[in-house]
Amino acid sequence: MRDITLCHPRLQALTAQLVDKCVGAGLPIKIGESFRSVAEQDALYAQGRTRPGSIVTNARGSSYSSQHQWGIAADFYRADGKGAYNESGDYFKKVGELAKNLGLGWGGDWKSIVDKPHVYLPDWGSGTGILKQKYGTFEAFKKTWAAENSRVPEQSKTVITDLKEIKSGIRGLRVTASSLIIRTTPKGTDTGKRYTKDQRVQPINKCFADGDPWIQTADGWVSGKYLTGWVCQDGRWWYLLSGYTYRHDAVCQIDGQAYAFDSDGWMITADRIAEDGHIR
Ligand SMILES: [Zn+2]
Repeated sequence: MRDITLCHPRLQALTAQLVDKCVGAGLPIKIGESFRSVAEQDALYAQGRTRPGSIVTNARGSSYSSQHQWGIAADFYRADGKGAYNESGDYFKKVGELAKNLGLGWGGDWKSIVDKPHVYLPDWGSGTGILKQKYGTFEAFKKTWAAENSRVPEQSKTVITDLKEIKSGIRGLRVTASSLIIRTTPKGTDTGKRYTKDQRVQPINKCFADGDPWIQTADGWVSGKYLTGWVCQDGRWWYLLSGYTYRHDAVCQIDGQAYAFDSDGWMITADRIAEDGHIR
C-alpha cells in the first residue's frame, strides 16, 4: 500500500525530510510502497516462486518478517522522469546516503537481497527479529507509537510580521476592553498587569503575530483589537478603530473636527490635494 500515514510517525517525518533533501540535492524521489498487509506480503513472496517474476523478498506474510508489515519501512522511486528504477548516476546510492544522514537505514546496504529503494527505521536492527521478540504482534508495537508521538510536541513559534514604529497624538490610544492583558511579547507571557477601559496609552511599535495585530507600549504588548485613536506611521496618520479596523474612504467627525481618509485609510492632508481637487 502507498499509505505512509499507516506507518510509524517517525518514519513519516523522516521520509518527508528525505523527499525535501532529495529535491534540494537535485535527486527528486517519491515514496511508493510503505505499509504492507499480510496478503500483500504473501503476493510479493509468491513472485519468483509460484508466480512469474524475480524474487524480491524472503519474507512470507504470515511470518511478519518484512519491515513493511511493521510500518517502519518505505520504498522510494526516482521522480526525475528518467525511469522510476533507473540506477544510472548512482541515483539510489546517493539517495541512500542522504537517508542515512537523516538517521534512516538503507536496504542498499543489505547482503542477502540488496534492496536499493528501501529505507527504514534502524532502531530494531536491519530485520524484524527484535520487533517480533519484543512486541510479538504489530498491534502491540503500534500501541507504542502514540507515546513516542506525544514525547515530541510540535514547538509552535510565533511568526512576527510588519513590525513598525508608531506613535499617537498627545491623548494616546483609548482602551476599549474592560480589562486588557499586557504581555511581555506579542502573544507572549502575561505580565499580570492590565489596562482598564477608557485608559489612554502611548504606542511605541506595532506588528502582526501569526496574523493578529499587536501594539507595544512602555508596559508591554497588548492586542491591537481593543484600542482606538490616532496612529502615526511612516510620517502619515490613520485612525484605528476597535477590532483593528480603520477609517477609510470617508470624511469623519473626530473630537469635533472633520478629517478625510483615502481608500487605504491615510488621513488626507492639504499637500495631497491638487489644484483641481484630486487627491494625490
Ligand atoms: Zn521495501
